[in-house]
Amino acid sequence: SSQPQSMLEETNSMNNIKKVIAVVSGKGGVGKSLVTSLMAVNMRRAGYKTSILDADITGPSIPKAFGIREKAMANELGILPVITETGIGTMSVNNLLENDTDPVVWRGPVIAGTVKQFWTDVLWGDVDYLFVDMPPGTGDVPLTVFQSLPVDGIIVVTSPQELVSMIVEKAVKMAEMMNIPVLGLVENMSYLKCPECGKEIPVFGKSKVDDVAGDHGLDVLGKLPIDPKLAEACDRGRIEYFEGNWLHKAVKKLQNL
Ligand code: ADP
Repeated sequence: SSQPQSMLEETNSMNNIKKVIAVVSGKGGVGKSLVTSLMAVNMRRAGYKTSILDADITGPSIPKAFGIREKAMANELGILPVITETGIGTMSVNNLLENDTDPVVWRGPVIAGTVKQFWTDVLWGDVDYLFVDMPPGTGDVPLTVFQSLPVDGIIVVTSPQELVSMIVEKAVKMAEMMNIPVLGLVENMSYLKCPECGKEIPVFGKSKVDDVAGDHGLDVLGKLPIDPKLAEACDRGRIEYFEGNWLHKAVKKLQNL
């Protein structure tokens, strides 16, 4: 790897983390946290030890999706992850703040420092797949996070409302700089399924994700519909019990990593 090794942070010596998968998006609100959550749920269902590091410090959505209200505890060895009902380890800034509605008004370096601490100080234990819900965009904070965590692969979440070609281009360039493979693209809010006739309606026009993926030699790992049940599952903290599975290709890709 051409990544300067000196910048990589060591995780707690008690941890044994096999694969670190970063989930990125061009901007907020495209469903990056939802895809991160569903990936973790699917890998857990497939029998793997799975955890989520919520690096989206200014927009943390992982605790809500899993219905977690507990605060994180610590012992003399480190910070304990908060475990979901089905056994997914999580750490988010919302597990540390006294009030989840408190805004995080920290500057970039403090935010990046917090993410590094989630890597260095949390007792993740034995983990097959650690998913990192990255801060949105390709700015300073995600860059610092990429430089300090040993990421094995990146999943890019896009939505058809966006300039997908530009976002993918930026993500691919950032990944090349870090020498980390882009595992593929997931398109969220790809279509709407008519509840009456089952027809798929391309609400935002014809999807361009296949063409863009093809241009970069990347795989499309899944297309998620707009589904009110998904929004409800997130809202109610029931994402672990959501039945739909549009990500089996992504699961396969990670199993073969
Ligand atoms: P991001 O992490 O990119 O900021 P989120 O994953 O938090 O975005 O999603 C933003 C909001 O949109 C959430 O409230 C989520 O429930 C909703 N949402 C995302 N994707 C879908 C979808 N495919 N169908 C229905 N609601 C969705």
